[in-house]
Amino acid sequence: MSEEKMKEKRNEEKESNEEEEDEQKKYEYYKKAGAIHQKAKEIARPLIKVGAKVIDICDTIESFILENDGQLAFPVNVSINNIAAHYTASGPNDQTTIQEGDIVKVDIGVHVEGYVADGAFTVSFNEELDKLVEASEAALQAVIDSIKPNRETHKLGAVAEAAIKSFGYRPVRDLSGHILDQWELHGKKTIPAVSLPSREKIEEGEVYALEFFATTGTGSVHDLPPTYIYNLVPLKRPIRSKAARQIIREINEKYKTLPFAKRWLMRDLKGGVLFGLRELTRIGLLHEYHPLAEHKGIYISQAEDTVIVEHDGCTVTTRKES
Ligand code: MN
Ligand code: MN
Repeated sequence: MSEEKMKEKRNEEKESNEEEEDEQKKYEYYKKAGAIHQKAKEIARPLIKVGAKVIDICDTIESFILENDGQLAFPVNVSINNIAAHYTASGPNDQTTIQEGDIVKVDIGVHVEGYVADGAFTVSFNEELDKLVEASEAALQAVIDSIKPNRETHKLGAVAEAAIKSFGYRPVRDLSGHILDQWELHGKKTIPAVSLPSREKIEEGEVYALEFFATTGTGSVHDLPPTYIYNLVPLKRPIRSKAARQIIREINEKYKTLPFAKRWLMRDLKGGVLFGLRELTRIGLLHEYHPLAEHKGIYISQAEDTVIVEHDGCTVTTRKES
């Protein structure tokens, strides 16, 4: 081998070592985000009680994450009763309060260097709905127990569906688990809550947020405006107003492509937020996360954890090792 070739080979080896180190680092970040998520859940649980205001719950959990070395992967979601997901406090004056008889989903997102821990739990203040909470938890556990490389995603959907139906409820079929990647909360691969005709397979090393919703309704949700959560769509578009440009700067600096709350912009920017948001939405630069709901009188539970797929199963980052 010539001097030149050997040098080239050494460089290649060095590069592949560096890549491997980056890969290792990436999982350390996922696990660190998961550990912060676990602590956030611990302080969150006692906050969920009758009479508690959603704005105080969101503020307390979000501050805790930031004070504990984490960043917010999305606004804390507190979705009550027929609302499945994507409700967060509109602002300091949001009067939404937990009532006797409610069922409350708390969905928390932490990231470290863009690597996300996404997980949710449900608290019921209605004894008759305790089984509904168990149903989504059972679906999540069944999928955690059966996820591994080469498993087809639709088979996991079938596992979740069967678990929920065994409690006499239906899965929310419009909502799915999702693959995670750096700065990407909802990647292309999804894990359905029902058996769907997809031949997509799980691969070793992938990271998923596994989430399942059980409902007393039909399992189909609709948008319930207004929107309190957005994320940036990575497109280039001419932006007219100063207000909109200020929002784009703020998003690029703090949130990148991860979801953020309207109330965060209202808190951190000087003014023109509503005007700017309208322009950015109109020109297609913002995706709106509407609250997703069934009809009034329907109840929905949710359970979610984040997992790293390993050669013979998975590690759950958002749970303590047992
Ligand atoms: Mn979530
Ligand atoms: Mn999720």
